[in-house]
Amino acid sequence: MKNKIALEEHFAIDLTIDQSKIYSLPVAWERLKANLLDIEQQRLERMDQGGTAFSILSLNSPGIQGIPNVKEAIDVSRRANDVLAEHVSRHPTKLGGFAALPMQDPNAAAVELERCVKTLGFHGFMVNGFSQAGSAETVVYYDAPQFADFWKSANALGKPFYMHPRDPLPSREPIFDGFPWLTAATWAFTMETSTHALRLMSSGLFDRNPNLQMILGHLGECIPFNIWRIDNIVRKAPRGIPCKRSLGEYFRENVYVTTSGNFRTPSLLSTMLEVGSDRILYAVDYPFESFEEASRWFDNCEISETDRNKIGRENSRRLFGLP
Ligand code: ZN
Repeated sequence: MKNKIALEEHFAIDLTIDQSKIYSLPVAWERLKANLLDIEQQRLERMDQGGTAFSILSLNSPGIQGIPNVKEAIDVSRRANDVLAEHVSRHPTKLGGFAALPMQDPNAAAVELERCVKTLGFHGFMVNGFSQAGSAETVVYYDAPQFADFWKSANALGKPFYMHPRDPLPSREPIFDGFPWLTAATWAFTMETSTHALRLMSSGLFDRNPNLQMILGHLGECIPFNIWRIDNIVRKAPRGIPCKRSLGEYFRENVYVTTSGNFRTPSLLSTMLEVGSDRILYAVDYPFESFEEASRWFDNCEISETDRNKIGRENSRRLFGLP
């Protein structure tokens, strides 16, 4: 399929590149590093070869979320967004941007988001899970009360946000001790990200901001497979849950899921049965995954051409108001 739109495509700047080193084998690091730092060379060629016409780019994880010093987080986010905006301005028909935000300071994050959307023309923002705020061991999730005004302004801007994974801090998740192969994209990303997403949904965030739309990668971080059970248990034992509706209702009305890094037809079909093909969007997760592998799978998987067009392009065009 030609003219696909891809949504979870990462880049790095000099100040964040070393954060990605742990996600690479030593022999593959130089290549991953070059691919993350490159925006206009091999990236555009590979997009073209994989039938992707437009990519919305985002900073590598944990990015700004992993910078505990608040002033530094604000400075680096502005720098990363400016770098991205400069590249986007040279290729406006091929590249778009998600803002990187200093969530350590909700007011500064709201100001930067407004600048990114209104001045730089970005399509929304991506957060890489919780932020370390003030100290490396101080963790904030975005259901906290100090984010109420931030979400109100994000809702008013009318752009979606992407909840992207990061690893939990080792001090908070001893269950991974001695099992490094279960961290990162193997399993820890999914556990951390799905739990954060469920926190946002169950906190009443979408009751207060009903037009807000959250995007989850990797076919919904396992939530589609579990959403019936979650609602079934909450119905029987609500334990003080404050939101007004079932989590399944938010999941079907305030959440989109992407195909990033989860190129598996039975999993896609199961997700389609749960949320419908209108709420699934194509994404690769480049350069951690390849445009070639993603498109080889997606272009040939056994779904209707109507659904392939929706997931590959039309749903994203509608959501982001693209031409
Ligand atoms: Zn990613």
